[in-house]
Amino acid sequence: MSITKTSNITTSAVRAGINTDTHHGAVVAPIHLSSTYSLKGFNDKRQFDYSRTGNPTRATFAETIAELEQGSVGIVTATGMAAVHLICQLLSTEDTVVIPHDCYGGSFRLFTHLAKRGQFNLIVVDQNDQQALAEALAQQPKLVLLESPSNPLLRLVDIEEVTKACHAAGALVAVDNTFLSPALQQPLTLGADIVFHSTTKYINGHSDVVGGVLVTKTQELGETLAWWANCIGITGSAFDSFLALRGLKTLPVRMKQHQENALQVAQFLKNHQAIDAVYFPGFSDHPGHEIAKKQQAGYGAMLSFEVKGGVEAVKKLFDNLELFTLAQSLGGVESLISHPSTMTHAGMEIAAQLEAGITQSLVRISVGIEDIDDIVKDLAHGLAQSQQ
Ligand SMILES: *Cc1c(COP(=O)(O)O)cnc(C)c1O
Repeated sequence: MSITKTSNITTSAVRAGINTDTHHGAVVAPIHLSSTYSLKGFNDKRQFDYSRTGNPTRATFAETIAELEQGSVGIVTATGMAAVHLICQLLSTEDTVVIPHDCYGGSFRLFTHLAKRGQFNLIVVDQNDQQALAEALAQQPKLVLLESPSNPLLRLVDIEEVTKACHAAGALVAVDNTFLSPALQQPLTLGADIVFHSTTKYINGHSDVVGGVLVTKTQELGETLAWWANCIGITGSAFDSFLALRGLKTLPVRMKQHQENALQVAQFLKNHQAIDAVYFPGFSDHPGHEIAKKQQAGYGAMLSFEVKGGVEAVKKLFDNLELFTLAQSLGGVESLISHPSTMTHAGMEIAAQLEAGITQSLVRISVGIEDIDDIVKDLAHGLAQSQQ
């Protein structure tokens, strides 16, 4: 497993914003709700002047994420999708973008609809298909989007290898790191130019904020994107930044427990008669296992599986669970279960879903940090009922 600075990450996360209040000495970084800031005098600005452009609470959160991702500039956005849309500001009508065929449903919807309106040219590829990727790169794209592990099938791409090929073709590389968080993967250290998150998921971790963040490797790219974030008005609120920063403090500790539970759930599901296949990068027979060992500090806590008996069995499973909540989203302390085809990936047409391997019997779970015996007991009961 990669990532050498785990202990630094744990410490940096906990200490984020501590002792930054020079006025009262507040231990926790205060929340600054003010929309505007006074000038010291005529033509004499302070650090902040207007909260869309810059806000102290948001800045503390942005700086902490930038540090954890080992990048230069952090930009906090109102949602994860706003972070994706912000990246699109780098593109002109003659530019080409390459996205993975199995990326997050919302990203897929945004890129395909903007391309339909002629905002850029779009190529959708299976990034593990070397030939298809090489053909796409031959078109000299401006930007290549990566998502590893992918949602919902947990497919992995070798970020370092693919980034090298993209750079050789002159493309910028942006990686969606939502599924792992900087505690388990740091794409900028693998060569990527931009890393982004839906902080709605693991970074906030308590299912009470919708937010996003983006970190750039270089100062220059960061300044360009920060300019656009202010220009189009998609920066995150002070209150959400405060909550997300609070969640972030326990990220490394939560990830430890999430992963420990996920491993046990995966092993339980693997041997279960009601299940045809389990997709979890921690298994040595998972096609991305070796890549995971190389570029991740853990296997994460997301997994998906195919239930025997199709959509009828899936419905029975959902109807008989008590601990798991049927809901989209992921990465909160509570265990969630979902049906990608009708929920997270409903924005993708059925043909595109099938091409991406999303069937009607596919179920995705976000393993929470409840007691592992309770989690397994609930799944065991639901799965037994699913086959009745
Ligand atoms: C949720 C999610 C997004 C979008 O983020 P929002 O905060 O919902 O706008 C993007 N990518 C991935 C992988 C996600 O899970």
